[in-house]
Amino acid sequence: MSMSSVGRPTQPNVGASIGGHASLTGGRGLLQDEPLLFELGGWDKTGVDFDAAEHDASDLGDLVRSRPIGLSGLSEPETMRHYVRLSQKNHAIDLALYPLGSCTMKHNPRLNEKMARLSGFADLHPLQPMSTTQGALELMDRLAHWLKTLTGMPAVALTPKAGAHGELCGLLCIRAAHEAAGHGHRRRVLVPTSAHGTNPATAAFVGYSVQEIAQTADGRVDLSDLAAKLGPDVAAIMVTNPNTCGLFERDVIEIARLTHEAGAYFYCDGANFNAIVGRVRPGDLGVDAMHINLHKTFSTPHGGGGPGAGPVVLSKALAPFAPAPWIVHGSQGLELVEETKAEAAQAFGRMCAFQGQMGMFVRAYAYMRSHGSDGLRQVAEDAVLNANYVKAVLSAQMTPAFPDGPCMHEALFSDAWLDDTGVTTLDFAKAMIDEGFHPMTMYFPLVVHGAMLIEPTETESKRELDRFCGALLALAKAAKAGDVDRFKGAPYLAPMRRLDETLAARKPKLTWRPDDSTVAPTPLAAE
Ligand SMILES: *Cc1c(COP(=O)(O)O)cnc(C)c1O
Repeated sequence: MSMSSVGRPTQPNVGASIGGHASLTGGRGLLQDEPLLFELGGWDKTGVDFDAAEHDASDLGDLVRSRPIGLSGLSEPETMRHYVRLSQKNHAIDLALYPLGSCTMKHNPRLNEKMARLSGFADLHPLQPMSTTQGALELMDRLAHWLKTLTGMPAVALTPKAGAHGELCGLLCIRAAHEAAGHGHRRRVLVPTSAHGTNPATAAFVGYSVQEIAQTADGRVDLSDLAAKLGPDVAAIMVTNPNTCGLFERDVIEIARLTHEAGAYFYCDGANFNAIVGRVRPGDLGVDAMHINLHKTFSTPHGGGGPGAGPVVLSKALAPFAPAPWIVHGSQGLELVEETKAEAAQAFGRMCAFQGQMGMFVRAYAYMRSHGSDGLRQVAEDAVLNANYVKAVLSAQMTPAFPDGPCMHEALFSDAWLDDTGVTTLDFAKAMIDEGFHPMTMYFPLVVHGAMLIEPTETESKRELDRFCGALLALAKAAKAGDVDRFKGAPYLAPMRRLDETLAARKPKLTWRPDDSTVAPTPLAAE
């Protein structure tokens, strides 16, 4: 089904069959169709009773608004219900297993939330005198210590606010280091074909040209292609490990050696650190800079759930170029080094106005302390075990992209098993919604045809994994048995049917205008 206009989808699920009958209103199983707040109308009302003003006390003169502002006048229950109904249309990690790959962990322990709400952390202001923020600085210092210890790296920049921001921080450090050494002519960055899109985007943003490194048939960096492309103008390589095919780069030490021999730096995309935390220290592998997505490895909220944090650990060679601020133990207690002079003279600048995402630091530190070093290692082991279980069970019907050997934290399938069924990866994913499961990551990484990337994470029980795999196996059998309608029309049971996702992505409708509405009167129509 394609749509002529996007924004709020115009087809509520009217017409989906309920025992042969369509819903008359677009409602479905106690879920009402939900218009936009603006479409709810009530333009001439307010949700609160105000006494009429005694006199016009405005100083605004001619600037006083002469027309209604155009907001819906809703009562408190109407407002509350609107937002709760919208929230029910969204999937959440607190509702069900979330199989998306390239996301890693999806668990926000309630303990973290409790700690982050302690008023000593939650009510801080970044410009408070340091004498009053010693506890917060100590937490940041301890978090930095854990990050350095777990990665085997001597320095960390805490301020970057997401993985992609961390990549930018790492490459700016690398650029500053090359420039300081008189190697500003190094302008090329090598990135494997399977890389996350943020890697080449970051390199281009920093002003580098990007060249792809080929991949071997078993999903790893092609060493001979890397060696051939390294040269005196290469600034860095950006390699994800474990990589986005869910595989450990077996030759990572050789990758580092070749890179350093060519005078370049090794940037490691550490988004998948969850799979090796406590087991492998990237510093031992020859990594020079790596971002750690606290929201992917240390349980801070992810995606729409909250601000990210992407601290970057740095090798000895890059540490002097780290952005301000950082914490030192001074004579008056802990202090933030804010100015790029003396010890910080080579710092390339800063990544954000203040000290980074304090609320995320508290959550990540609470998670580390509640697991301990042995618990974190167990997290990595269980994440890998769960992914291999999913890979083994689903391989009965689906085609693993790399059948030989175990995977790391995510199981990757191609669409070869759908050949001749008339069903595509997209159709299959949509049919999963009808079975109560959010789809996996589709069509990424690009190196695998019709990719389906499933990352169960360590927090799912065997019973839950069995329920999930059972649903996928049942669907796979239906696809192979020729039950094509089940897939082509899916989802049938969701509040919205299939949308034109390309149009929605290319031409998103980001503002509402009165003439969009068939419901409300149009008080702004005069404009
Ligand atoms: C998620 C991810 C990123 C980007 O991280 P953000 O925090 O979303 O900016 C980069 N690389 C890989 C491999 C990722 O999975």
